Amino acid sequence: CDMGALDNLVANTAYLKAQGGDDKELKKRRRSLALPRAEQCAGARASVPSDFESLCVVQPIGKRLFREFLGQGLPEYNTAAELLDELTEWDLAEDAARDKACTNIINRFCKEGSKSFLCYLTGETLDKCKAVTEKDFEEVMGKVREATKVFLKGKPFMDYKMSPIFDKFLQWKEYERQPITEKYFYEFRALGKGGFGEVCAVQVKNTGQMYACKKLCKKRLKKKHSQKMALLEKRILEKLNSPFVVNLAYAFETKSHLCLVMTLMNGGDLKYHIYNIGEKGIDKERIIYYTAQIVTGILHLHAMNIVYRDMKPENVLLDSQGQCRLSDLGLAVELPPGKTSTQKAGTGPYMAPEILTETPYRTSVDWWSLGVSIYEMVTGYTPFRGPNTKKEKVDKEEVQRRIFSEEPKFEHKNFDMSTKDIIQQFLKKKVDERLGCNGDDPRKHEWFKSINFPRLEAGLIPPPWLPKPNIVYAKDTGDIAEFSDIRGIEFDAKDEKFFKEFNTGAVSVHWQKEMIDTGLFDELNDPNRNESSTGLNGD
Ligand code: ADP
Ligand code: MG
Ligand code: MG
Repeated sequence: CDMGALDNLVANTAYLKAQGGDDKELKKRRRSLALPRAEQCAGARASVPSDFESLCVVQPIGKRLFREFLGQGLPEYNTAAELLDELTEWDLAEDAARDKACTNIINRFCKEGSKSFLCYLTGETLDKCKAVTEKDFEEVMGKVREATKVFLKGKPFMDYKMSPIFDKFLQWKEYERQPITEKYFYEFRALGKGGFGEVCAVQVKNTGQMYACKKLCKKRLKKKHSQKMALLEKRILEKLNSPFVVNLAYAFETKSHLCLVMTLMNGGDLKYHIYNIGEKGIDKERIIYYTAQIVTGILHLHAMNIVYRDMKPENVLLDSQGQCRLSDLGLAVELPPGKTSTQKAGTGPYMAPEILTETPYRTSVDWWSLGVSIYEMVTGYTPFRGPNTKKEKVDKEEVQRRIFSEEPKFEHKNFDMSTKDIIQQFLKKKVDERLGCNGDDPRKHEWFKSINFPRLEAGLIPPPWLPKPNIVYAKDTGDIAEFSDIRGIEFDAKDEKFFKEFNTGAVSVHWQKEMIDTGLFDELNDPNRNESSTGLNGD
């Protein structure tokens, strides 16, 4: 039997087994872990931000512990927390359940005599709340929600910061600050190849959480003058928190590499799904589902003033649940309001006319590329290159000419009216006529009428297609080319400073989410846990 194939099989088996979870080694290791003791948390106390939003809303452990505090605090604290919980449920409910949730909230919280009446409201909001009906519920609750947040930000937040539960939070923050090295992870097979190193699967030893680790060779970065770019990609990634963009959980360095540890996407990229499975293209139901997620991801980037600039099926990756995320933010750029770019960036067939002509642009270019990508998912070819049969070879210049001056053809059998319409809206050559570019919301297009976006974001809509659990949707390990050695590059003080800036360890939001999702949060908070162990890293 072929040795390469055997290597690949061994690598896949180890990788699939790790994803299966439940191993003895992990349980043993977890028993030896403990939070840093309260007196060790001075560093965390000094560095923790003081704003309510970050401490009690954005950070998952912070949110959990603040909620726990409210539940044990004064009755009106608990009432405020319960109202917010029920409003979230109402946000996500549909049809009859939504009506029921609404009536329930009115009866519990808005009737003056009731035990859970919102007694902290004042002035106009109080009057409106007492008079609320099913008809003006949404509008009034918008105000009530705001007033509830203002209330919680005041005395309850002050009390929380003086409570033992906040000390517990600081213990978690101290734990979060631990330096990260390669010893923190087990490493598995390579999943793909980037410009500066491999991307491989890794697993956090303490929690069992799987991630993808993008390695950037320090010498190669320096040789290609790409250090700034790498830092930019890292800084953009660490700001993002969307279910539809790969998240950065850790950034660390080894002797030879800088490493970005991100959401593991093991269901293959959309290019692979268009071209390598069955007939070219993807089923309509799946295209709508993926595009709804992509649109939500792009809107998240744009809300942070980030232009993606590399929207194409190859950069959209599927996870094991069949949900997709945008990846490879190496071309993304942050453009504060009012600022534009004229830099030519992107991938040929997906580039908007305004990029090719070097006209100042902002977010419009992503909507154009999305239009090209939807077209490609439907047909198995891009609109301005066409089917590219042997008879008709279309070169780069011709593709560009068509981007400027031709309308795409919609002859393929898989097009229907509504699909054609949304693509045409995204492929308007004039920016101010393009969908997404003139204050309109692409999510409102009738093509998405089957999608409830709040539920989609909450992960409540089951995907139309699931990757098979026993298949590795990546090239064979032997087909992922190795990197050659780089000679003659030495590092100076400036380089070391850059490595240090990169090496920031755990990213709060995603690290905390990992602690909760893997159950380590509950385990270490368990008051009955025996406290004989002290090891921070467990090794
Ligand atoms: P580069 O910017 O250097 O091109 P990418 O971010 O595109 O690097 O990653 C290179 C390859 O690694 C991708 O084409 C894909 O095959 C794989 N890959 C990247 N990110 C992930 C991820 N989060 N999960 C799984 N595979 C990934
Ligand atoms: Mg790439
Ligand atoms: Mg890149």
